[in-house]
Amino acid sequence: MHKNFIDGEWLAGGDATVNVNPSNLDDVIGHYAVADATQVEHAVASARRAFKSWSVVGVQERSDILDRVGTEILARREELGRLLSREEGKTLPEGIGEATRAGQIFRFFAAEVLRGRGELLDSVRPGIGVEITREPVGVVGLITPWNFPLAIPAWKIAPALAYGNCVVFKPAELVPGCAWALSDILSRAGLPDGVFNLVMGPGAVVGDAIARLAGVDAISFTGSVSTGKRVAAVAAERLAKVQLEMGGKNPLVILDDADLDVAVRCAVQGSYYSTGQRCTASSRLIVASGIHDRFVKSLGEALRRLTVDDALAPGTDIGPVVDERQLARDLGYIECGTGEGAKLAFGGNLLTRAKRGHYLSPALFTETTPEMRINREEIFGPVATVLRADGYEHALAIANDTPFGLCAGIVTGSLKHAAHFKRNADVGMVMVNLPTAGVDYHTPFGGRKASSHGPREQGAYAREFFTTVKTSYVQA
Ligand code: NAD
Repeated sequence: MHKNFIDGEWLAGGDATVNVNPSNLDDVIGHYAVADATQVEHAVASARRAFKSWSVVGVQERSDILDRVGTEILARREELGRLLSREEGKTLPEGIGEATRAGQIFRFFAAEVLRGRGELLDSVRPGIGVEITREPVGVVGLITPWNFPLAIPAWKIAPALAYGNCVVFKPAELVPGCAWALSDILSRAGLPDGVFNLVMGPGAVVGDAIARLAGVDAISFTGSVSTGKRVAAVAAERLAKVQLEMGGKNPLVILDDADLDVAVRCAVQGSYYSTGQRCTASSRLIVASGIHDRFVKSLGEALRRLTVDDALAPGTDIGPVVDERQLARDLGYIECGTGEGAKLAFGGNLLTRAKRGHYLSPALFTETTPEMRINREEIFGPVATVLRADGYEHALAIANDTPFGLCAGIVTGSLKHAAHFKRNADVGMVMVNLPTAGVDYHTPFGGRKASSHGPREQGAYAREFFTTVKTSYVQA
């Protein structure tokens, strides 16, 4: 049984969950403890106690600890990447890539901790100086989704600790294996008891308690819009600081002057890799009418060449869907799209493989219109739609016609259109001649509208959420 980590101790819970490999439903990864509300209270209380001393620990010590965590993750990236692929279902190269990124994030914040800086201003009153400094927020609750089970916890935990906060970490129910492995590394890195706590369990119990408990000063959440709104509403009752990263319905615009190979590569990578289970996935392909038919034909040919199979098998391009529930959701949207009058041009079938798993062939809808549900709601699977556009202005209008605003891409040879798109796409991140999914770890990440709420994550911008500003006036 893999236990929760609270106040420096590994503690069992009442129940346990069974963690199963979505590529092979007969493969049990392990049993994981389920925390209850009392254990969450225990974790929060221990984090509160630890905060007093941790918040004033020197930056060298914090940097050394983060560096040790990052170094161990990088040294074990193949093993951790394998665990990730086995548990979540993204392919082994993708799993190793994500483990590498998690290690790099810890190493980035190990250095960033040494760059803490403030500002000095002259007061408008002569003889008085003004100092603007940053202090940790306090105890932070970190609630994460299943689709990036190492990277997202890393990009919340590393800055939280770097800036002197104590952490109560609640991972998604589907991926306790990666959360436990990361927590094991953190438990041996030299953190004082209570600074980092792991509480695994259901969102409605463990996540809800984190949002409600007065001892949690700030909550950083990544997940669906509906859960994010619930967390924000509960936290707002007690005026806790909240950061939400939520869903996407990201457009990839392909103009007539696009390089066809680049366009197809961006669509295959952005829409279908990681089984389409990325908040930055290109779920809407908005294609100018002059290139439309050639693009659809080439994309269909590229999809035919993809291998959907066991995430750990060499040569697999697309692993399984994460679980039965998500598979039912994907199939439900495929049925819905057909019912709405879209043409299922490729895939969307359940596949049988040597091992029992949730295998679905990548689905492509054509002849779709912006008001269809498949173009408005986040599906979060290997399903993309093609929308036909009469030129650039029309494509931009369709791209922005969504409640979401995370990422948008454009494939074009025109500097004029690329520059206009960068300025006018109503999103937090823009990609030019690149897939919408795939971002760096040292740059700000986040969106607009229903996709994000609060300050950006990652890179130096993470400081905004994980610190609070103090202004001191000093008479010499
Ligand atoms: P989810 O909303 O179902 O769950 C997210 C987390 O919230 C989980 O840990 C869950 O246990 C917890 N939770 C559930 N109910 C809760 C409650 N009442 N109170 C507190 N916590 C609760 O999301 P998911 O299915 O795990 O992840 C998929 C979603 O995440 C997609 O919408 C995707 O777009 C989004 N996502 C966004 C980003 C981003 O950075 N924008 C990144 C990855 C995933």
